[in-house]
Amino acid sequence: MLEARNLSVNYGMIRAVREISFTLAKGELVSLLGANGAGKSTTLKCIAGALKAGGGSIMLDCRDITSASPEQVVRAGLATVPETRDVFPDLTVSENLMLGAYIHRRDRAGNRENLQRVHHLFPRLAEREAQAAGTLSGGEQQMLVIARALMSRPAVLLLDEPSLGLAPAIVDRIFEMIETLKRTGLTILLVEQNVNQALAVADRAYVMRLGRIVASGTADEIRATTDLTKHYLGG
Ligand code: ATP
Repeated sequence: MLEARNLSVNYGMIRAVREISFTLAKGELVSLLGANGAGKSTTLKCIAGALKAGGGSIMLDCRDITSASPEQVVRAGLATVPETRDVFPDLTVSENLMLGAYIHRRDRAGNRENLQRVHHLFPRLAEREAQAAGTLSGGEQQMLVIARALMSRPAVLLLDEPSLGLAPAIVDRIFEMIETLKRTGLTILLVEQNVNQALAVADRAYVMRLGRIVASGTADEIRATTDLTKHYLGG
């Protein structure tokens, strides 16, 4: 479904991502793990079309999206939830959600149907549809940015650190939500610092260190063979 081949991304002289290769099969939930600065967010930004690849290729469902713009990537069926968790604070929850449906703006019936599906997945957002997004709690805002991404009707969802800065009880709910999304058939690439919870929901994982992939396998294989502390502490 999604494949990166020898992907490199540079910031000027800084080689943030160095010839990494990975695949996600349809319906798989794959975690991308690694310490701060390992290159995970840079990888997601490049797939999303926000950063240019310095080399290699990205294929989405057999289409080459290596040089696609962010809008072309969304139209190709891939949505990203960045770690910045940006909502439009003065717009209502509903208005924020409808912005996620931008590429389908002429398909009103389809958007209504999709909004119902999203409300079903996130009842809390349905209850708060008329409330300004800026007044939601941190956890609710995280739900909103995920729900907004779903309004583009993606086949693949990239999630960048969805649990960042949230209280443990809320983090548990976010992970439950991610498992629910997986059950809907969505293909998910999950970047997380929360290694144990990420491995608990993932089919497979890749571990990045200093811009390279240094380990990959099923969650059990990664737990058994990789010194995650070393990779997390960057030692
Ligand atoms: P984090 O969890 O902190 O987001 P990460 O694994 O996502 O870590 P990246 O943010 O992708 O790591 O950063 C990879 C490398 O690229 C780091 O060395 C970082 O300092 C560098 N980097 C990231 N963004 C920029 C930028 N805009 N300009 C220059 N260097 C950058």
